[in-house]
Amino acid sequence: MSKLIPGATGDWEVVIGLEVHAQVTSNAKLFSGASTAFGAEPNTQVSLVDAAMPGMLPVINQTCVEQAVRTGLALEAEINLYSVFDRKNYFYPDLPQGYQISQFKQPIVGEGVITLDLPEGETKDVGIERLHLEQDAGKSMHDQHPNFTYVDLNRSGVALMEIVSRPDMRSAEEAGAYVRKLRTILRYIGTCDGNMEQGSMRADVNVSVRKPGDPLGTRCEIKNVNSIRFVQQAIEYEARRQIEVIEDGGVIEQQTRLFDVAKGVTRSMRSKEEAHDYRYFPDPDLLPLEFTAEWVDEVKASLPELPDAKKNRLMADFGLSVYDAGILVAEPETAAYFETAAEGRDAKQAANWIITNLFAALNEQGKSIIDSPVSAAQLGQLLDLIADDTISGRIAKDVFEVMIETGDDPAKIVEEKGLKQITDTGAIEAAVDDVIAGNPEQVAQYAGGENPKVIGWFVGQVMKATQGKANPGQVNTLLKEKLGG
Ligand code: ADP
Ligand code: MG
Repeated sequence: MSKLIPGATGDWEVVIGLEVHAQVTSNAKLFSGASTAFGAEPNTQVSLVDAAMPGMLPVINQTCVEQAVRTGLALEAEINLYSVFDRKNYFYPDLPQGYQISQFKQPIVGEGVITLDLPEGETKDVGIERLHLEQDAGKSMHDQHPNFTYVDLNRSGVALMEIVSRPDMRSAEEAGAYVRKLRTILRYIGTCDGNMEQGSMRADVNVSVRKPGDPLGTRCEIKNVNSIRFVQQAIEYEARRQIEVIEDGGVIEQQTRLFDVAKGVTRSMRSKEEAHDYRYFPDPDLLPLEFTAEWVDEVKASLPELPDAKKNRLMADFGLSVYDAGILVAEPETAAYFETAAEGRDAKQAANWIITNLFAALNEQGKSIIDSPVSAAQLGQLLDLIADDTISGRIAKDVFEVMIETGDDPAKIVEEKGLKQITDTGAIEAAVDDVIAGNPEQVAQYAGGENPKVIGWFVGQVMKATQGKANPGQVNTLLKEKLGG
C-alpha cells in the first residue's frame, strides 16, 4: 500500500518510523511502590523516590520487568538476558531527579516484528528495532493559575515501554495500522491498556520524504501524538510540508516538532543544534537486569493466543473471511464473544450479527462489548430460535432490539410478545385465501403474466396480515399453488 504523493518535480515517497511509549500495566511504579491508578488528585501518588528526595534509592519492580519481557515475546523479539539501566540527564521542572532512568546501549528487548493488517486482507511486516524500559516524568500544569505553573508528580516514575520501529512504513494508513495492531497485541497480553485518551499510549512520529529509490531523507520527529487519527493527520501534513520545502529549493533540517491538534499543522519545537546532550551513563544505584533462558521460556509459555494466531484459527475453524476474522480479533473481548456465540452454530451468521447488529447497537449506546446488554450466550439463543424456525430472520431483528433494551432472554421475549412464527399450514392458508379474495385486480395481473413481480407484493400482504409471523417460505409456496404459478 505504498502510496506516492505527487509533487511539482514528480512523485514522492513518505518514510515513517514510530517510537511508541506504552504505559506498563502494573499497580506500582517502575522503581517505587506508589500507585499508578489514573485520575487521582494531583500529587497523591508520589513516594519519596518519585519526588527524588536526597538519598532515596530505586528498587526495580519485578512485575514491570516481566511485562516488558512478555511484550518482547509477543513481538517475536529477541529478549536480552543482560540489560542495563542508564541515566538520561536533562533539566525539566517536572523531572525532579534531573535525569530519567532509561535504557540506552543495552535495552531489555532487541529486534522483533509487527504484521500490519491492511485493507483487502493484505499484510505487511514492520521491523521492531528495540523495546526498552524507562520512567515517565511528571506533568506541568499551565492552566490552573494565571501566574503559576503547577507540577503533578503522579506520573513521575510510572513504567513505560518505548517500542521503536524501523523506518518501514510508507503511508499514514500504514502508520495507523501499526499503532492499531500494536495496541491490539498489548491488550491481548495485558501489558498496556492502550487507552490513548488517558495517555497510556503515545507516539513520536518520525517522518521523511524521498524520491522512490533514493536514500532516506532527513527526518523530523513529531512528539507525543495521542490518537491514531492525529498520527495520520500529522504525517499527511508533515510529508506535504517537507515536499514543498525541498521543491522550493530548501533543505529539511532535522527537527523536533509538535502537532497542533486544533489547526492540523506541525510546528517546530527545537532543531538538532539545540538538541540535548543527555550524557547517558549506567545508573550506579541499579544492578544490571539478568535473566535465565529458562525463565524467559516460562514467560513465553504463559502467553495467551496472540491476534494473528487467533485470526488464522477463526478462518480455519469457522470458515470466516479474512475481513470478518480481522474485525473480530481486534479486541480480545470481541473474539471471545464471537467464539461463545458461534460455537456449534452457523459461524458466518454469528459473525454478521455481531459485526452488523450488535456493533451498531453498542455504538448507539456508547458501550463497549464488555458492557453489552446482550450476552454472547443470549445471542446464541437467538440464532437457535432462527435455526429451528421458531422465528424468522425478520422477527429476530425486532427481538434483538428488545434484548438490547431489556437484557431479557430471546425465548422470553418471543413468548411474551407472541412472536412465534406461524408454521401451521391451516392458519397460513387462511391468510393467503383472504388476501387473494380481497385483491382480484392483482390476481388478474399475475394470471395475465403482465406483472410477475406481483407475487412479492402478495407475500408482503400475507406477512402483514400475520404481523410478520408467517413462515415466508410456506407463504411463497402456498401463493404459487393457489395463484397457479
Ligand atoms: P534517535 O536515536 O536519534 O531517536 P533512531 O535512529 O533511533 O534515532 O530513530 C528513531 C526513530 O526514527 C525510529 O523509529 C526510526 O525508524 C525512525 N527513523 C530513522 N530514520 C528515519 C528516516 N529517515 N525517516 C523516517 N523515520 C526515520
Ligand atoms: Mg528518538
